[in-house]
Parts: sequence; structure tokens; C-alpha cells
Amino acid sequence: MKLVADCRRPSCHHNQRLDLEKVKAKLGPDAPAMADDLIPRMRCAKCGGKDVGLIYSPDPDKVSGMGRRVRG
Ligand SMILES: [Zn+2]
Repeated sequence: MKLVADCRRPSCHHNQRLDLEKVKAKLGPDAPAMADDLIPRMRCAKCGGKDVGLIYSPDPDKVSGMGRRVRG
């Protein structure tokens, strides 16, 4: 799973890939890692704003036990 933090400040629009494993390590193994839990803790690394959105998407670079990647 790929997680991208996206600053919503129009003058910034910084976005940064987050490592879910590192996020979990930081919050603790039992911490929930859903967007609603993470967003209040997030802050834009560029402008320091707290209006940050999270985008979850499947990681195309990782294939886990599902066989080979199929394109098209
Ligand atoms: Zn920002």
C-alpha cells in the first residue's frame, strides 16, 4: 500500500510519499493507521500547514504473493 500526504494549501501543494511501516513504527504497532487517525497528526514538511490530505493507493512496485504483475 502506498501512502501519499498531500498539502491542500493552494500556495504549497507539496506532496510526499510516506512509508506506512515507518508511520506505524512511529505511532506504535497497535495504532490505527487509517486516514482519519493520521491526518490530525500530519503536518506539511514544506509549509508546516496542517491541512494535509492522505491518498492511499495500491503500490505497483510491490507484488506480494499474488503472482506476477499483469499490465493492460
Ligand atoms: Zn504545505
